[in-house]
Amino acid sequence: MTQQEILEKLREMGAYKAGFVPVNKIVFEPEFRKMCESNACGMYGRSWMCPPHVGPVEELIAKAKAYDWALVYQVVGELEDSYDFEGMMETGKLMNELTQAVREVFRETFGEDTLHLGAGGCRLCPVCAKQTEEPCRFPDKALASLEAYGVAVSQLAPMAGMKYINGPDTVTYFGAVLFHGDLPD
Ligand code: SF4
Repeated sequence: MTQQEILEKLREMGAYKAGFVPVNKIVFEPEFRKMCESNACGMYGRSWMCPPHVGPVEELIAKAKAYDWALVYQVVGELEDSYDFEGMMETGKLMNELTQAVREVFRETFGEDTLHLGAGGCRLCPVCAKQTEEPCRFPDKALASLEAYGVAVSQLAPMAGMKYINGPDTVTYFGAVLFHGDLPD
């Protein structure tokens, strides 16, 4: 698939915008982990894919930096108002479905050794197995967030030709697949 075909396919699949960024330009901020530790989302320590169980941030950053390119994409949802929690959850679900679809559709394009990162941690199971101290049920599909890997998403967005925030009463989520090798033609 060419670059253009990949970007068009992503938009067909529901992404609002998508773009490529070289991994060596991505800004990583280990301090972001403190936001997770503040537990504003209530998931700290409650998911295998969220801190602290997802792993030390320095190790995750090193893992991400071993890749060459990131295909970054975003989903934008309309909200009734800024308190529309249901609308945010609905868009979050779309984002998760898109991320899983990206894994399947682009498997051949980017090869098996890719790193898929999403928004807000893994939402694959209604209740993460961590909460009952069982092993992860789908280790091949479990998804950590860009933030858990210390990615400065607000700086990543413009590099990929996107806005970080898309206007009042909207919510925007970001995902990325990191891959080895050259940018497709
Ligand atoms: S796949 Fe399920 S058990 Fe594994 S991290 Fe995600 S939500 Fe938790």
